[in-house]
Amino acid sequence: MREIGACIYCGSLNSLTDEHYFPLSLGGTDILKKASCTECAKAINSRIESRVLGSQLANFRRNLGLPSRRNKKAKGKPGVYRDTLGRTFTVPAKDALTAALIYELCTAGVLCGRMEIFDDGAFTIASIHGKDDIEEQEFCQKYPLWDKTLTILPQPHLFAALIAKILHGAFINSFGMNGCIFYLPKVIIGDLSPLQLVGSVKRTDSPKIEGGMSFSGICISEHHALLIADYDIFNGGFDFIYQAVVGIVEISEMAKISEIKPAKFSASDTRTGRSATNDVLKHLRLLGLAVPS
Ligand SMILES: [Zn+2]
Repeated sequence: MREIGACIYCGSLNSLTDEHYFPLSLGGTDILKKASCTECAKAINSRIESRVLGSQLANFRRNLGLPSRRNKKAKGKPGVYRDTLGRTFTVPAKDALTAALIYELCTAGVLCGRMEIFDDGAFTIASIHGKDDIEEQEFCQKYPLWDKTLTILPQPHLFAALIAKILHGAFINSFGMNGCIFYLPKVIIGDLSPLQLVGSVKRTDSPKIEGGMSFSGICISEHHALLIADYDIFNGGFDFIYQAVVGIVEISEMAKISEIKPAKFSASDTRTGRSATNDVLKHLRLLGLAVPS
């Protein structure tokens, strides 16, 4: 358990609390001690976690038996539904339907030159899990007044912000905060679209992942590299994994971390075909992200 002594989102040294960067409701048990200020913790919880996880993803994980990294099973959350008279009713977690939207994202915007303000089209819904016939029949037998509707609003940006939060914390848990310019707080507590820094890659295109996570670097100058984190959050449940641009590190620092090897610049996008270091640097500056001169 690593103690940080500063908020990993805003840098504040005051009113620090322990940070569950991998949400408890997804089975996360890892804690960074004294690592988020109460203000950021509150904002992130209300803006991202409570909205993304709601009752959906937790039940999805539990009912599909997906283990967390520590092999703890997600407990699930009670489900809220409507009856045919428009009234809401709550069912215990063990009965709740598992429907949840899982997103396959495009390459992170900064790695492919995508600049749309709202990132329309930067995701597809990979699956709506769990609402199969048997599950639904059983649910109807037990709750005959259910109006048979599920209201799920696609929230790819919030989902990506949650991925950003997990990867930001996981990197700091592994390597600490020294020698890195962090980008992800800007999409976790800021206004920048998370889809600029978070995306998906095909499993086969990713470095080999051990323990669910791996790091790699893309050289952007003689001395600096973009630090990329790949994370198999669903433990092999899909043929893609999530990827985030964590920030910038000095290549000499990277060399001290055995898991990270300086890599040849390799960003490319099948839609635009752009793949130049200068494009990435220009893009980062346009987004207001700090770039070493
Ligand atoms: Zn803070």
